[in-house]
Amino acid sequence: MKPGTRYVHESQEPDAFTGAVTVPITLTSTFKQDGVGKPRAGWEYGRTGNPSRKSLEGAIAAAENGTHGLCFASGSAATAAVFNLLQPGDEVVSTMDVYGGTWRMLRKVYEKYGIKARFLDSHSADSFKESLTARTRLMWVETPTNPMMNIVDIAAVAGLRSRQTLLVVDNTFASPYFQNPLDLGADIVVHSTTKYIGGHSDVIGGALVTNDAEIYEACRFYQNAAGGVPSPFDSFLVQRGLKTLAVRMERHQANAFEVASVLKGHAKVGRLFFPGFADHPGHAAAKRQMRGFPGMISFELNGGRPAVERFVQRLKLFTFAESLGGVESLACHPTTMTHGAIPQADRERIGITEGLMRLSVGIEDAEDLKEDIRQALQ
Ligand SMILES: *Cc1c(COP(=O)(O)O)cnc(C)c1O
Repeated sequence: MKPGTRYVHESQEPDAFTGAVTVPITLTSTFKQDGVGKPRAGWEYGRTGNPSRKSLEGAIAAAENGTHGLCFASGSAATAAVFNLLQPGDEVVSTMDVYGGTWRMLRKVYEKYGIKARFLDSHSADSFKESLTARTRLMWVETPTNPMMNIVDIAAVAGLRSRQTLLVVDNTFASPYFQNPLDLGADIVVHSTTKYIGGHSDVIGGALVTNDAEIYEACRFYQNAAGGVPSPFDSFLVQRGLKTLAVRMERHQANAFEVASVLKGHAKVGRLFFPGFADHPGHAAAKRQMRGFPGMISFELNGGRPAVERFVQRLKLFTFAESLGGVESLACHPTTMTHGAIPQADRERIGITEGLMRLSVGIEDAEDLKEDIRQALQ
């Protein structure tokens, strides 16, 4: 089955009991058991397992060409489940422009349990290789990165894996439609389903997918023990989003190329970061590992912070807000929003300047979006 078909059919058979075509939202906290030690079909308690969640977990696993999926109440909860595989003294290697919340979790939450994190300025597999030590347990890769749209060569970094060092890829930006890290050698894929998979800016959720039964069992144990699970209703919303992922991503991509072409070379715009264009430094690597490009574009406004303030006031269709991946176009100012937790010196070193804007291009009509950007720049 091709991806667009899998998103609609995999792990969402019509209900065996009623024939309901849509997987029911099973709003229950507990399940009647048929006798001592006889839970019906394995269901016991809603934190441990719920049919709505289970259906979604299977569907997201299939979307990532994986065998095992687990869903969480947020992308951050999925991320925490992976870090809980670690022991005191273990090391994690990632890049400086990793998702701000992941940086914060490593630095402010897991460091106090003795887990050491390094954040590289470079995105080359060589720099990952040089940073590996006998204690490195995880390489945490995001590609394209947020907000600079750097590309990490997943297969090259996967070549550095060993029995003790796993590769995790946060695939939130590309979405499963454009990139499948497990196929490129990753051990675990993480998603904030809040973004493209949910796709409608109406739910917070997360997921992880792996082909490794041992990793799955360890993360599933943590999921039940720590309890950061999505509600049945949230599971339904994410699953409803997944069904239309293929059509939405095609439209996000087409619109992103249109909007990026307005920004490119515009007198009010400095550097443009869009990996879909051939002159982006990561374009060749992106073409090798991605089937297309999501609606994410960053660019510098000439005129810095004052220009940013005027620009966001003038936007009519692009909503000034954090997050990404929904049907509606959003504009965000990374310095004061998504990357506010990162120290200023680190931010500036990796290019997150006061004039930087990030767009999440939605699925509206491209002409309207282009006109909005044109008039706001003007
Ligand atoms: C949003 C996001 C997360 C965190 O997900 P939440 O659902 O907000 O907890 C992690 N990684 C990336 C790349 C994200 O964009």
